[in-house]
Amino acid sequence: MTTPQPPVPHELAALRRRYRIERERRVRPDGAAQYRDADAEFGYYAADPYTQGPVVRDALHDTVDVAVIGGGFGGILTGARLRQQGVERVRIIEKGGDFGGTWYWNRYPGVHCDVESHVYLPMLDETGYVPEWKYAPGDEIRRHAVRIAQKFDLYADALFSTGVTSLTWDEASETWMVATDRGDTVRATYVVNATGTLTDPKLPGIPGIEDFAGHTFHTSRWDYAYTGGTARGGMTGLADKRVGIVGTGATGIQVIPMLAEDAAHLYVFQRTPSTVDLRGNRRTTARDVGADREHWARERRENYLRIVSGESADEDLVADRWTASAGLLEKLLPSFRRQGDRQDFEAAYEAADAAKMNELRARVDQTVTDPRTAEKLKPWYRYACKRPTFSDLYYPAFNRDNVTLVDTADTHGIERVTEHGVTVAGTTYELDCLIFATGFNVGTSGIHSGKLPVHGRGGVQLLHRWARQGPRTLHGFTSNGFPNLLQMGPLQNASSVNFTHILDEQAVHVAALVAAAEAGGALIEPSPETEEAWIAVLAEGAPDHAWFHAECTPGYYNREGRGRPNGPLAYPHGAVAFHELLGRWREESMGEVLRSRTVRLV
Ligand code: NDP
Repeated sequence: MTTPQPPVPHELAALRRRYRIERERRVRPDGAAQYRDADAEFGYYAADPYTQGPVVRDALHDTVDVAVIGGGFGGILTGARLRQQGVERVRIIEKGGDFGGTWYWNRYPGVHCDVESHVYLPMLDETGYVPEWKYAPGDEIRRHAVRIAQKFDLYADALFSTGVTSLTWDEASETWMVATDRGDTVRATYVVNATGTLTDPKLPGIPGIEDFAGHTFHTSRWDYAYTGGTARGGMTGLADKRVGIVGTGATGIQVIPMLAEDAAHLYVFQRTPSTVDLRGNRRTTARDVGADREHWARERRENYLRIVSGESADEDLVADRWTASAGLLEKLLPSFRRQGDRQDFEAAYEAADAAKMNELRARVDQTVTDPRTAEKLKPWYRYACKRPTFSDLYYPAFNRDNVTLVDTADTHGIERVTEHGVTVAGTTYELDCLIFATGFNVGTSGIHSGKLPVHGRGGVQLLHRWARQGPRTLHGFTSNGFPNLLQMGPLQNASSVNFTHILDEQAVHVAALVAAAEAGGALIEPSPETEEAWIAVLAEGAPDHAWFHAECTPGYYNREGRGRPNGPLAYPHGAVAFHELLGRWREESMGEVLRSRTVRLV
């Protein structure tokens, strides 16, 4: 095996040219409008296959302290941290039939989390659980979500298979009215929005998609009744089936090797190849991770966050391909802390990026035996243009006789779906089953999509308030005019490849705000000046990545080739610094968002 050498300047120029050509092949005039939501006539793709018919129940009309929208890790951690603050009436309202969020929905064969389980699974110190694999399978993660929910008694008041349809601030009682699609009206002193960023499945708007007469579904709603088997494989239902899969992102990478094992024939419709780095999954023991020490999980998680956020660390406890490539995550994460002089940094960054991409392209040649297939699988863009992926099973799958890679870049994706299959560049591939691994409407679920209207003081809608100048928050959590509404997520907050860590810090913060408001008989609401000051902090340090994303191959990181949205997205000095800032603010300044109530709660 040859080790790729660092590129010299003329190689960098050639790479830039090649990347531009590959980008131009893929940019589409319709941008993000090329996709369609999985609703209305496509609602079938979003239906819940894991819970048999939602439980029949009467509509609820009652009062709680906190209504939490979403039962994924964001909602569960909020519930747990609220319990630790002594809050009793916590109601989590969740669309799925149980807790788990992303891990409730994504049960496709091969599903794993590609962030190390010992840092990804939250509350390991508190629950005493030690994961069994370096990279946990989805069902282990889902069971852990349930474990936390049980430990903190979150099932008692939860509503499952229930979607929140509106939030309305009732000035007279200074509480929120939460309406749901099951006819409930729940009065809540506080509302926490924890609807996640990868919630609503999306489909490509391929002409004829509705004409397909075979079986079809989205990976986040896996139809085991049709395929047979489990997330570990054994899909006997596919033994005589011609299966097509659209999409080779982080999901496609995991599911394709499993389909290759079980389908009579698998057609992989690829538009942009992912970067697929070494995985190296293995069983782990408590000893491997020093789980006999107090706070072992917290230490490991903090060490990981430091490294993948651009901070220095004395040691690398996780030591995987995320941490090894951490320096290249700067363009991916708006809250990454860049070290050193900008120009020197960019030059070194480009060279390191090219060396990494050369290594990843060499990995394809080392594994895939057919040179034409290998060529099609090589990613030609800079590392952080697309979400990095990791698998040791993906490339070998293309050495099988029953797997065909169909490259669709020249036709901007699949041209047409017909009654019997899929057409690409004039060739029709006949299929029995067509699976969409085409991802989610990233960051636009719930409140941010407008599907969940929020009416604050004076009946003002949150998205109307934000329409002119963009989102206005303090730390991403609270907004003027919307008292006691607490938002989770990366917006104007922090983000990391280990998102459960971010969510846990957010949950701690939300619970502290609620506890302080309860203790002081107060409402939580920042003034417009406080919001303004926060926006100024974000804007002042905001990194200019526009030029980088303008050169990137299209995807959801750059709004399908149109560049990043304007305005500050996240705290610009890194997640570690942000968490320190929040801790200090809780100690010294939390009073600035606490306003006297005019109504006394009973
Ligand atoms: P993505 O949005 O990342 O990928 C969608 C795929 O569908 C892309 O390959 C895209 O191609 C392809 N596609 C879309 N439209 C067409 C078309 N018309 N014709 C052909 N191909 C098309 O979705 P994923 O579900 O893979 O991942 C979403 C996110 O979920 C990830 O970014 C990650 O954050 C998370 N995830 C995390 C995992 C983990 O282990 N932590 C595992 C799985 C997912 P193109 O690239 O050209 O647009």
